[in-house]
Amino acid sequence: MKLLEDEIRKRGQILPGNVLKVNSFLNHKIDPMLLEAMAEEWYQKFKNEDINKVVTIESSGIAMAILVALKFKCELVFAKKGKSSTLGNVMTASVYSFTKEKDVLISIENGYIREDDNVLIIDDFLANGSACNGLISIIKYAKANVKGIGIAIEKGFQDGGKLLRSQGYKVESLAIIKSMNADSGTIEFMEAE
Ligand code: 5GP
Repeated sequence: MKLLEDEIRKRGQILPGNVLKVNSFLNHKIDPMLLEAMAEEWYQKFKNEDINKVVTIESSGIAMAILVALKFKCELVFAKKGKSSTLGNVMTASVYSFTKEKDVLISIENGYIREDDNVLIIDDFLANGSACNGLISIIKYAKANVKGIGIAIEKGFQDGGKLLRSQGYKVESLAIIKSMNADSGTIEFMEAE
């Protein structure tokens, strides 16, 4: 998606450890017009999949996922991180956090994803695939169907996208980074393989 690639080039910052910082328009300060255009792009890619639920992880995924859920006129469920006293019986998965460099427990309350729901997963980044795999395991536990995975920024030089596509999931990333160089600040994009 050219608009997103342009914003990443203009406003993204490459941090050590292959981390891209997009806090100025996606992860901290948010550009709602850009997010709306992204939601429309995902809607066009998944509109024939009969989606009736959008699922993401708190917190960065939520803003994008709300706009996507509005397009599909369906509910959004976001997985909570850590333990919370307000949660009842939950379905959980352990996810390795790429940015925090530790395992994090994610939870979704029983019943919020129902058997036979057609789920679209939305997330901001795809690196090694741990976040998506955690969500997939919860969705499968609930006996629902993963109909697609919409990612804002896939880091194509890491293996998550390859692994998920090889398992048959329809992964649609709006920008795929082929390489990024912290010294020169250059970012190269690629198409999905
Ligand atoms: P994965 O689980 O695929 O290894 O990593 C995806 C998750 O880690 C995303 O939910 C995102 O929060 C975080 N993440 C991975 N890579 C980056 C990155 O380069 N920049 C930022 N801001 N978050 C990232």
